[in-house]
Amino acid sequence: MAELFCDICGNGPVRAQILVEGAKMLACSRCMRSGKILMRLDDDDEGEPIVRSIPTTMESSEEIVEGYGKIIIAAREKLGLPIAVVAERLKEKESYLHAIEHERLAPTMEVARKLEKELGIKLVEKVAGTMSPALSKPSSKNFQPPTLGDMIDAKKKKEK
Ligand SMILES: [Zn+2]
Repeated sequence: MAELFCDICGNGPVRAQILVEGAKMLACSRCMRSGKILMRLDDDDEGEPIVRSIPTTMESSEEIVEGYGKIIIAAREKLGLPIAVVAERLKEKESYLHAIEHERLAPTMEVARKLEKELGIKLVEKVAGTMSPALSKPSSKNFQPPTLGDMIDAKKKKEK
């Protein structure tokens, strides 16, 4: 196969011809999913998953797990620790921990780490980023956050 480069990201090798917004393009294995696949250029690994590994360029971030409040309460009760004791050990306010347990407030990463250590639980999870240069189109109309003005307008309309 001749040296072909992906029309989308410029890298090779090209693995498929795809249709993107009516245009036929050559795409590498990473970019072929951003359009309709017209033809695969090598049939060797048919049946294999298209994406074999998470691209290393993907940014990952950390997030507090869902249901953290219940996790904290369960762990604290299992250990038989009153909230006041945990607060003292963490050097945080009891009311603050209370709010976290009832998920009125999300703990900061620092507090989450302390809770993890103190209670032997897992509150922070790594989240793979959604940033992918192949999939972000500069002209995307879906990526415009509403302005404050828009939100006020929407609110007014609702109230009418
Ligand atoms: Zn590509």
